[in-house]
Amino acid sequence: MIKLTGITKSFGKQQVLQGIDLKVEKGEVVVILGPSGSGKTTLLRCINYLERPGDGRIAIGDFEVDCARAGKKDIHALRGRTAMVFQHYNLFRHKTVLENVMEGLVVVQRMPKETARRRSVEVLEKVGLGEKLDAYPSQLSGGQQQRVGIARALALNPEVILFDEPTSALDPELVGEVLAVIRRIAKEGITMIVVTHEMGFARDVANHVVFMDGGVIVEEGSPKEMFNHPREERTKQFLKRIM
Ligand code: ADP
Repeated sequence: MIKLTGITKSFGKQQVLQGIDLKVEKGEVVVILGPSGSGKTTLLRCINYLERPGDGRIAIGDFEVDCARAGKKDIHALRGRTAMVFQHYNLFRHKTVLENVMEGLVVVQRMPKETARRRSVEVLEKVGLGEKLDAYPSQLSGGQQQRVGIARALALNPEVILFDEPTSALDPELVGEVLAVIRRIAKEGITMIVVTHEMGFARDVANHVVFMDGGVIVEEGSPKEMFNHPREERTKQFLKRIM
């Protein structure tokens, strides 16, 4: 379903992704763990070309690009198959909740406005914000704002949703409601790649856990294998610190 092969990325002289290979099956939830600076966010951003990878191949469904050669059309096609949920929500401040969700459907997908509105209301109800359609982001809690971010991604009907530390900017008491929404949509079989430090979530919801350090995948496996029987010393040390 999603296959990354040999993805590299450098910022100046610093190579932050050293050749990442990763396979994600349809409907799977993959959680990426790792210390700060290990390249997790950069990897997510490379998958939908918010960062341009150096080398490697990205395949999503029946579409594949060779990163070294990707042109505008390839990038557009890749972006159309993915959606991102950001740590800091990245909502339009001057647009309402409903307008935030409709924006991508109308502007990028060129969906007729009425269809886009119906679709947006449907996903906003799904994340528990059916009553907040006309509110502005500043009138919402962080948890509600992030649920708008999730609705916006869902509305696009992507083949995969990429979550970049979706709860790390939230006050602790708001983390639960956002994780509950992610859990619920995971159950619907939407393919997800989630960068998070929420170990409880990783244990319960992930089908597959990947541990990154220094721009490489050090170890990967089922949550059970990774949390109960990590093989690599670096994984053991990381888990000891975080759990
Ligand atoms: P993680 O998500 O695991 O914390 P990141 O992918 O954010 O790691 O960062 C990996 C490394 O790449 C870090 O050393 C970071 O400073 C560097 N980096 C990330 N984005 C940029 C950028 N836009 N310009 C320069 N360096 C960057």
